[in-house]
Amino acid sequence: MGLLSLGKPLTWEEIKANNYHEHVRRHGLIQFVNLYNRLKDRPCDVLKWGDEVEYMLVKLDHKTKSAKLLLSAEKVLPVLQEHEEMNPNGDLKTLWRPEYAAYMVEGTPGKPYGGLMAHLNTVEANMKLRRQQVIELLNKEEGETALSLTAFPRLGCPNFSSPSYEPDSTDEGVSKSLFFPDEVIYPGHPRFRTLTKNIRKRRGEKVAINIPIFKDINTPSPFVEKFTNDYDGESALAAKPDHVYMDCMGFGMGNSCLQMTFQACNIDEARHLYDQLTPLCPIFLALSAASPLYKGYVTDHDCRWNVIAGSVDDRTKEERNLEPLKNNKFVIPKSRYDSIDSYLSPNGERYSDIDLILDEKDCQELMDAGIDRQLARHIAHLFIRDTVSVFAEKIDQDDTQDSDHFENIQSTNWQTMRFKPPPVNSNIGWRVEFRPIEVQLTDFENAAFVVFLVLLTRTILSFKLNFLMQLSKVDANMQQAQKRNAVLDSMFHFRKDLRSCSCDCPIEKEQCLMSVNTIINGGPLGDGQGEFPGLIPLINQYVSTVETDLDTRCTIMCYLKFISDRASGKLMTLATWIRNFVSEHPEYKQDSVVTDQINYDLISACDRITKGDLKVPELVHIIESKSSNDIPNSIKIAQDIK
Ligand code: ADP
Ligand code: MG
Ligand code: MG
Repeated sequence: MGLLSLGKPLTWEEIKANNYHEHVRRHGLIQFVNLYNRLKDRPCDVLKWGDEVEYMLVKLDHKTKSAKLLLSAEKVLPVLQEHEEMNPNGDLKTLWRPEYAAYMVEGTPGKPYGGLMAHLNTVEANMKLRRQQVIELLNKEEGETALSLTAFPRLGCPNFSSPSYEPDSTDEGVSKSLFFPDEVIYPGHPRFRTLTKNIRKRRGEKVAINIPIFKDINTPSPFVEKFTNDYDGESALAAKPDHVYMDCMGFGMGNSCLQMTFQACNIDEARHLYDQLTPLCPIFLALSAASPLYKGYVTDHDCRWNVIAGSVDDRTKEERNLEPLKNNKFVIPKSRYDSIDSYLSPNGERYSDIDLILDEKDCQELMDAGIDRQLARHIAHLFIRDTVSVFAEKIDQDDTQDSDHFENIQSTNWQTMRFKPPPVNSNIGWRVEFRPIEVQLTDFENAAFVVFLVLLTRTILSFKLNFLMQLSKVDANMQQAQKRNAVLDSMFHFRKDLRSCSCDCPIEKEQCLMSVNTIINGGPLGDGQGEFPGLIPLINQYVSTVETDLDTRCTIMCYLKFISDRASGKLMTLATWIRNFVSEHPEYKQDSVVTDQINYDLISACDRITKGDLKVPELVHIIESKSSNDIPNSIKIAQDIK
C-alpha cells in the first residue's frame, strides 16, 4: 500500500452529488497524459525490485484454547515506523505500512534490491528481520505473535478478534456486515472505512461473496447458513445454498498476500514484462495455494482470489447485467479486483481476446494526446471505474505537477498485474507489480517464491522467452488455479513453444493443456507435441551463465528445489496441509466446520512452523539456506558498490 492521502474523506453521496467522480476521471486522465509525455522517454533505468509481505497479528490464548486476531496494528505501527520517521532518507533495513485490517501490518525491504545475484541471498534474512521487528513489539507471554497467513480460518466467526466487538449490521455501520465489526478495520487512517462504505453505497447493497463449501460426509445437503441480525433479509437473499457466504470488504482485504514490484529499464521493457508475467499469474496462484478455510468452514477452494474479488465488487445491478442499463454506462464483466483484460506490448495485441470495456471518448482523448492505442485502451479501461475515495483537500490539483487523481483510479484497480508509471518528482522508473501469490508461513518459502520470480524475469529477458497466450485462457486458468488441489489435479492452458515469437498456425494451436508440474519442471506434452522445457530447467540454464558467489548459488538451488517439489507434489501446498490438519483433528466431525479448538490447534501449529519449532517435511524441506543480511564485502568491492 503506497499512497495514503490524509485528510477528510467524502462519502459516496457527497462524491456523486458534486460529480467529483467525473472530476477525478477527467483530471486523472489529463494527469496520466502529462505524466506519460514527461516520462515516456526516461533514459535507461536499472533493474530494481522489492517484495511486500502482509502480516497478521494473532493472539493464542493457551488457557481458553482459542486463537484470535489481535487488533494492535495501530499500537505497533508507529514504533515500526520510528526509524523512517526520524531518518526518512537514511539507510533503512525495513519499511512498514498500514493495511486494511486493525490486525495487519505490511513490511517491505528498506530500499529496493538491485541487479546483483548476491541480492537474492539477502531476501530471506530481510524477511526474518521484518518478522523479528514485529514480534519484538508483541507480548509473548500473552501468546501474541505475527503470522504470514493468507486467510485466518475463523475470520468473521463470533469473537474472532481481541478485543472482541459486535458487528453493527444496520445501515449506520460502515460495512453493515453480520460478521465483521467495523472496529476490525484499521482505525489509524480514514481511507479504509471510507472505501468500505463507499463501495457498498455505490453498489447499492452489501458485497456478496459465495465460495463453494467442501462437502464432507456429514455436511448438510443442501448446506444453508442461518443468520441472526439480518434485519432486512439482505444476507438471506444474497447467500447461495452449498456456499460459504461473506458480506464485506474485510473478508477479502483482510487477507494477506505476497507481492513483487520490478523496475524495468524503460517503458517498453515494462510493457513487455507486464505481458510476459500475465500468463504466469494463475500458475503462481495454484503453486502458492494457502487458504482453504473461510468463516469457520472448509471450502472447496484453495486460494483467496475470488474472495477478494467479491469483497470490493462495487458494480451496480446494472453493471452486473442484472438490470437494464439506465443510470450506468456499461455492463462490466469483472470486479475492480480481478485479472487483467488487455496486454500492453505490441506482440501481445493479437492475444488480447477479451472484450475490453471502455469509454471511446476517453480512449480518443488519450490517443489525441499522443498515447498509442494499446496503452490508451488500457488506461481508458481502468477509468471505467468510479473513484470510491476522495479527500476534500485533494480535489483541486495542478494537473501538470500532481498525479493523485490518476493514482486514485489506478490504485483501486486491484488486478493480477499492475503497470506503474514513475511517481511525480522521483527517481523511480517504469515498474510492474506481480500480485497473485498467496503468502506462505515461513520466510524460507516466501523468499523462495520471490527469488524464483526474480530469476524468471531475468531468464525471460535474457533468453527472449515468450509466454503470450489468449487472455481468455489466462482467465480460465485463474478459475482453475483456485480449485481444491489444482496444483496436482488441474490442467492449465499454456504456451508450448517459448522460443518463438509467433507461428503461422492459429493462436489456439500455440497452446495446450499442461499440469503445473510440466510447466515448472518440464516434460513430454503428449500426442507427439514434443517436450516442454520447464521453467526451472530454463532458470538453471540462465543461472549457469551468470557469475554467482557460492552462498548465493547454494541458496538459489534450495529455493528452486522447493518450488520444483511443490509443483511435482513431493511437497504439499499449505492449502493441502491445512485440509489434512482439519480432517485429522479429533474434534472434526466431517461436517466442514472448523471449531474454535481446531482453529487454535491449527494456528498454534502454524506459529510453530513459522518459528522453526515444528518441522513439517511434507510441507517444506528441513534445510537452512545461507541467506544473510549483508552482501559480502568482497562482492561489494568487485562490483564497486558501497
Ligand atoms: P504498492 O504500489 O503496492 O503500494 P509501493 O509503491 O509501496 O507498492 O512499492 C512496493 C514495493 O516496490 C516494495 O517492495 C519496494 O521495495 C519496491 N520498490 C520501491 N522502489 C522501487 C523501484 N524503484 N523499483 C522497483 N521496486 C521498487
Ligand atoms: Mg498491501
Ligand atoms: Mg503492492
